Amino acid sequence: MTRHFDIIILGGGIAGAAMALALAPAAADHGLNIALIDADNLDPVPIQTDGAVFDPRVCALTEASRNLLNNLGVWSSVEALRVSPYQGMEVWDANGTGRIAFSAAELGIPWLGHIVENSIIRRALLERLAETSVHRLGGVEVRELSMKKGTSFSRPQAQLHLWDQSILTAGLIIAADGASSQARRWAGIPMREWDYPHHAIVTTVELEKPHENTAWQIFLDTGPLAFLPLPSSDDNRHFCSIVWSLVPDKARRAMALDDEQFRQELAVAIEYNFGEIVTVAKRYCYPLRQRHARQYHRNGVVLIGDAAHTIHPLAGQGANLGLLDVACLAENILQACSRGEDFASDRILNRYQRGREGHNLAMAATMEGLQRLFSSDHLVLRWLRNAGLNLTDNIPLIKQEIVDQVIGVRCDPLKLSHSPCL
Ligand SMILES: Cc1cc2nc3c(=O)[nH]c(=O)nc-3n(C[C@H](O)[C@H](O)[C@H](O)COP(=O)(O)OP(=O)(O)OC[C@H]3O[C@@H](n4cnc5c(N)ncnc54)[C@H](O)[C@@H]3O)c2cc1C
Repeated sequence: MTRHFDIIILGGGIAGAAMALALAPAAADHGLNIALIDADNLDPVPIQTDGAVFDPRVCALTEASRNLLNNLGVWSSVEALRVSPYQGMEVWDANGTGRIAFSAAELGIPWLGHIVENSIIRRALLERLAETSVHRLGGVEVRELSMKKGTSFSRPQAQLHLWDQSILTAGLIIAADGASSQARRWAGIPMREWDYPHHAIVTTVELEKPHENTAWQIFLDTGPLAFLPLPSSDDNRHFCSIVWSLVPDKARRAMALDDEQFRQELAVAIEYNFGEIVTVAKRYCYPLRQRHARQYHRNGVVLIGDAAHTIHPLAGQGANLGLLDVACLAENILQACSRGEDFASDRILNRYQRGREGHNLAMAATMEGLQRLFSSDHLVLRWLRNAGLNLTDNIPLIKQEIVDQVIGVRCDPLKLSHSPCL
């Protein structure tokens, strides 16, 4: 069986689900036949949010991402499920005196960002998507992608071969199938990639003392350790999601510890900032790799989110970059539709690449630089980073610049807050 769509979005994670929703106006106003497909279920399954159980994967969402989710009509659902706005951020070097602190009150803003569980963002997007005319094909695993030759009147067409032998064709495939994207490989898009010298352990911990609605990050010899504030429970228990980046053999060792030993080592690593670590949930470990596609589109396949780039999670920017890809690509496709242009043309897809590549590369370079600066035990570099943190902490203009980048208000070209198409 063969089915044809104008656009297929492959992968219904945060980037793919947001993309599908951002393109819903093209289905409603221009009659485009759009499908979102994923090997996983795409039904908005209920999530229990009244207890002390959290998704181990969370995102520190920037204001730009919050604006986008708001424009897509899902922020109120995300908020109703569970979010944790944070008003402070503290970063310090375990090897010295360097420390920098950011406070929303000092900057005259209500928050610096929001910590949100990945499953909550995805659920809110899928719930809203179910109200649109975008087709959701869940439980559908793509086995291969091939190209059907074009004629003098038509472009080549991408064909997705599914495990059940059926075929889906589309004028444009938006690959949102994650870091190990097969669509990227099938389309022949080369990558620039290398391993970071870290694996990240993520889990939820309960703290003896409150986190003060602050995101904490300490740079240790072995890598950065972040404590991201989660909502306290009704009985006043305090929780954080942690991202502990460690050199691989130390990460393997930490994963092998029993809970009691892990809690003790974690409390020492964070310098007993929150007293004892009371409980720890199941731990997950992710090898970290920097990836960046050398081209964002080829052969009718265009990349967004982790399929296009992955970076070190030390500044929590991966999903935020993916959402900016969504805003930029959707804006270009919707504009092309409203002008009656070919939305899958090289001109439109090049415009998307130009809109996003520089920013994604700059963020990757910053993460690489920070990771190297804080991994080095060279005396001069150690002195420089400590002096740099303290100096920056005392210069309001530089601090404001960092906050603009971290909380993501610098996205004027994408006009996220007043985009006509979102
Ligand atoms: C430890 C850690 C901490 C992080 N913290 C932050 C943070 O604080 N802030 C932040 O912004 N980002 C953070 N990130 C990054 C963020 O989690 C990712 O950038 C984001 O989740 C990627 O979303 P995505 O939709 O691009 O890909 P994915 O979430 O990987 O989604 C890909 C989807 O494609 C589907 N798929 C794949 N192949 C196929 C196939 N062949 N057929 C059908 N379906 C397929 C999969 O089932 C999946 O649903 C962190 C990352 C890590 C590792």
